[in-house]
Amino acid sequence: MMRISVAGTGYVGLVTGACLASQGHHVLCVDTDPKKIDEINAARPPFYETGLKSLLEKTIGKNLFATTNLHESILDSEITFITVGTPFDGKEIDLAYVKEVSVQIGLALKDKPGYHAVVVKSTVVPGTSDEVVLPILEEKSGKTAGRDFGVGMNPEFLTEGQAIADFMNPDRIVLGANEEKTMEILSNLYSAFEGVPIIRTNCRTAEMIKYASNALLALQISYANEIANLCSALGSIDAVDVMKGVHSSYYLSPKTGDGSRITAPIASFLEAGCGFGGSCLPKDVKALIAHGEKHGNAMPLLNAVIETNRRQPMEVIRLLGKHFSSLMNVRITILGLSFKPDTDDMRESPAIPIIQALLERGAILKAYDPVAGHEARKLFQSDQLSLCETLEEAIVGADGVVLVTRWGQFRYVPELITKMNPCAVLVDGRRMIDKRLLSRYEGIGL
Ligand code: NAD
Repeated sequence: MMRISVAGTGYVGLVTGACLASQGHHVLCVDTDPKKIDEINAARPPFYETGLKSLLEKTIGKNLFATTNLHESILDSEITFITVGTPFDGKEIDLAYVKEVSVQIGLALKDKPGYHAVVVKSTVVPGTSDEVVLPILEEKSGKTAGRDFGVGMNPEFLTEGQAIADFMNPDRIVLGANEEKTMEILSNLYSAFEGVPIIRTNCRTAEMIKYASNALLALQISYANEIANLCSALGSIDAVDVMKGVHSSYYLSPKTGDGSRITAPIASFLEAGCGFGGSCLPKDVKALIAHGEKHGNAMPLLNAVIETNRRQPMEVIRLLGKHFSSLMNVRITILGLSFKPDTDDMRESPAIPIIQALLERGAILKAYDPVAGHEARKLFQSDQLSLCETLEEAIVGADGVVLVTRWGQFRYVPELITKMNPCAVLVDGRRMIDKRLLSRYEGIGL
């Protein structure tokens, strides 16, 4: 059992803290937002994540505690994870939160007898742990890294919507440290994860592994979308069939021991859609491009990934244009607001530019999302976007229905349109509906 503090109790910090507590560790989750801390102490997750509530109910007040007091939490733990946000400021990664929390940790280390490991879990551009975090810690604590405390880097690969399962069953564990003691503390902490490949490396490489992984996923999505758009432009080619053909290669669908075929999950990033969003892929790719260019290294491929993705939500508008010469006063329903299913996270969701473009064209909008409605309300007023309680309510009376998020329950959409609103056009922004089920169907890459 280890004593752990986690600085920054957002998605990553809270999931990390709750999962480590469920393994028996003593965990202090720290945040500057007192409202968030009160919610967590009442076992109410401040955001929707599968399984998180029950994990909090089992651990909170027993060996998981939420607090705003970072100083005490450092003194009361042997390892601190930094899990604050690292947004993109429009030009490059914004390290303001990382710097601020490093100052606070450094000041606490000054008062702390004994060794302490500070491990960056936030996604930060290569060099940040060594060249930003470590010098601040040394300056504010008056102590020496490698002797009095250590700096490590342990990137997080969890996917929102399945964050707890991902944390508990990781595909890999990347441990970055520049000296033995911190590496040993990290190795002990992760020793419970038997059979998982562990990559032990320096902090800069650990930082780069995270970016290289995210950039690859983004690259595949934009590649699939570029091919899909070409299929649409050429005509009589369906991108879904094209990708079925691509997925069937042994590279993506290898043979198992008994001769059957399995499809690698990465194939799901090779499907036509209205673009990627979320709190990670767009900002991480942009931050990596900016970091590369700052160091004199042009990044043409990743620039193209972002540009394709910026244009992709407009495919949905183009497809609506095939049925409506003008969208003025046309009643459009948006199905799905979150950037992906099983989360209420709307950060950089393609739903946002789609709604904005429809509003600019004078469409009358309503929307349905199983969990993200409250997030949409922060972005759009009720006279811009009316939120529906049910899928049925969303479909009834619409001239056009635009499917943006691949929520499982949307598989009933063809049945509901046929029963309640057979004249409506469905624009499938995720190609999740069988095109043969509806006469008025449009899909990306069709
Ligand atoms: P978030 O914005 O949800 O949470 C960050 C939290 O840090 C907030 O609650 C904020 O109040 C708190 N904070 C800011 N300054 C603080 C300080 N000085 N002391 C204590 N708390 C402070 O961010 P997130 O989505 O959890 O992401 C955190 C990091 O993890 C980012 O670098 C992100 O790129 C990375 N990451 C995120 C995901 C994901 O799916 N969300 C996955 C992998 C990696």
